[in-house]
Amino acid sequence: MDSYQNAAQLAALTQPQDPVFCIRPHAAQTAARWFLTHFPGETFYAVKANPSPWLLRTLYEAGVTRFEVASIAEVRLIAELFPDATIAFMHPVKAREAIAEAYHQHGVRTFSLDNEDELEKILAATGHAQDLTLCVRLAVSNDHAKISLARKFGASGADAVRLLQKTRLATPRLGVAFHVGSQTMSPDAYVAAIDTVEQVVVQAGVIVDVLDVGGGFPSAYPGMFPPPLENYAAAIKARFEKMLVAENCVLWCEPGRALSAESSSLIVRVEARKGGSLHLNEGVYGALFDAGHLKWPFPVGHLAHRTQPTELAPFSFYGPTCDDLDFIEGPYHLPSDVKAGDYLEVGMLGAYGVAMRTGFNGFAAYREIKVNDAPMLSVYKTNDPLPAIGKEAANVQ
Ligand SMILES: *Cc1c(COP(=O)(O)O)cnc(C)c1O
Repeated sequence: MDSYQNAAQLAALTQPQDPVFCIRPHAAQTAARWFLTHFPGETFYAVKANPSPWLLRTLYEAGVTRFEVASIAEVRLIAELFPDATIAFMHPVKAREAIAEAYHQHGVRTFSLDNEDELEKILAATGHAQDLTLCVRLAVSNDHAKISLARKFGASGADAVRLLQKTRLATPRLGVAFHVGSQTMSPDAYVAAIDTVEQVVVQAGVIVDVLDVGGGFPSAYPGMFPPPLENYAAAIKARFEKMLVAENCVLWCEPGRALSAESSSLIVRVEARKGGSLHLNEGVYGALFDAGHLKWPFPVGHLAHRTQPTELAPFSFYGPTCDDLDFIEGPYHLPSDVKAGDYLEVGMLGAYGVAMRTGFNGFAAYREIKVNDAPMLSVYKTNDPLPAIGKEAANVQ
């Protein structure tokens, strides 16, 4: 595979017309190794964060051989790439046909549920199989997360108690799962969630065999620097060890963002400048969905060879589609002389970047090319936390 030193070299040498994902397998390896050595349990990669085959292969080769999926297409993708991988099908509401295919054709044995309809579906679709691990998804607070995932899924109160009791009777291996929300900025969120889970489990009077603390592990973004990931692992381990569960209960996690965010950045081209607005060849119907809709603060740098520092000015972006919504307010601080034909690098787009591209309006083309430099920011200490392209112009503060 061709590779370049960094995005600036890639842009200068290839002058790409379409957006280019700069992929950093080394960053994904670092993240995988961190979870495999520091998380006190099993790590499942949440495929929805970034299903790119190069990333899946990198994680698998680094030792992350378990995958958390939410759709039958994700089940098929993982089963085809890695026939011996462990797949957990953790969407709490699934199609009957998807459950049956996952169980009978792809060897999936772990499913989640948060309602009694789903329990009935899983049992019927698997022929009342006796080799299942069924994880009841419980509702927990998402108050420490930048993106809440609390509204849609998770049983609570008397419903949760009844569902745990029914599921316990139906399966040899019962798990409890939750999600504290994405980009969770404090380890306390996991501790509070385990408090909640313990109360419900005690009320139900059941023994659980798996505690799955889900995803939510943070990455680093400008103005959003979480405490060290070691603190998360330590807090989860300490609380888990105090939990009133069977001695052989195992601990799982399902990081998406933390395993993928640092592994890609995106080179985009300025196609036109109108005052303080730049029209780019990528936008909210592409990898910049979160930048526009959630005002997510990605680091953005100007890829140009400069001999002296330039004055910065604030810019907002328009994406390439004909829709007014294709707008990213920013502001991003870039050299005031930025112009059509220039290239920008948007960092930290490995999670929920390539996964969000729609192809709307025909803007679907992109390439993936390997680069060897460090990600613009990192939660893993082995990487240089400073961007190679100059901190002022990269919006990383
Ligand atoms: C989205 C999701 C994850 C991954 O979440 P991150 O915040 O990216 O770590 C894990 N588990 C489930 C069930 C999810 O829906």
